[in-house]
Amino acid sequence: MPRRVALVAGRDYPSSYRDFVRMFPDQAACAAYLEHLRWPDEFICPSCGTVSLPWRQTRGRLVCRACRYQGSVTSGTILDKTRTPLTIWFEAAWHLTTAKNGLSAKTLERTIGTRYRVAWTMLQRFRVAMVRSERERLSGNVEIDEALIGGVEHGGKRGRGTTKSVVAIAVEIHDPKGFGRIRMRHLSDASGENLIPFVCDMVVPGSTVHTDGWVGYDDLPKHGYIHNRTVLASSDEPSHVSMPGVHRVASLLKRWILGTHQGSVTPFHLQSYLEEFTFRFNRRTSRSRGLVFRRLLEQAVVTGPITEADVTHGYEW
Ligand SMILES: [Zn+2]
Repeated sequence: MPRRVALVAGRDYPSSYRDFVRMFPDQAACAAYLEHLRWPDEFICPSCGTVSLPWRQTRGRLVCRACRYQGSVTSGTILDKTRTPLTIWFEAAWHLTTAKNGLSAKTLERTIGTRYRVAWTMLQRFRVAMVRSERERLSGNVEIDEALIGGVEHGGKRGRGTTKSVVAIAVEIHDPKGFGRIRMRHLSDASGENLIPFVCDMVVPGSTVHTDGWVGYDDLPKHGYIHNRTVLASSDEPSHVSMPGVHRVASLLKRWILGTHQGSVTPFHLQSYLEEFTFRFNRRTSRSRGLVFRRLLEQAVVTGPITEADVTHGYEW
């Protein structure tokens, strides 16, 4: 059995900052919690797959009784080989999931008193974990359109000219009203070669896909979708009338990039930000922020390691 996790009021997640402080006072408590999330029943050796009670060594090392594999609870996860203490990771995860609009690396740096680079790296790694939690495809009625996300700095330097990036957005539309889940992808352009794979990856065949009259969507029926297109008769009809879901999500996304991140998103990191936005949006009705925190850490220990280069130069999505 994994080491016992301290429950607060019978829950295995904190529902307030007070709970958070009580549950995670030190490194050992954080490691025990990650064990609880990674191996809810019993330790499974990442090397040979044997289910057994591991031997415990100093500094949180677990040793498989069958093959003598040695590792810690973070080995082989996105927290692998981190030199940042788990208490700092937990603190970052808490602020990231409980702040209404998330936070920038600059704000995180100030909030937890760490170096900017450390804060930035933690956020990037958590964004990679977020994408893994969004695997189930959308279904039912789905609106799809592209948005131009402007104000994205080119080359990371202000004043060097900005570039607009094409982002495909898919939104589930509920009947009679309301939106469900979303998916987004940064595309090199809005051609069919980019749009059709986006739809196939994100939407279950047989769903009704609502688009405008753009030729890039012409092949959707060939891929098993019911294609419902609205060809705007004139430019008088604004897009938010025919595509209320995409229009709403695009404007929230733009506001988030400009507000929380002051527009400082470079094109090669844009996809990471889209992943975070999607993760947040799809959990906007979660009954507890603490559950979202739990979900993020759970994803962090089931997501494989990424390299420092991925963090710096943009993750290969
Ligand atoms: Zn083993």
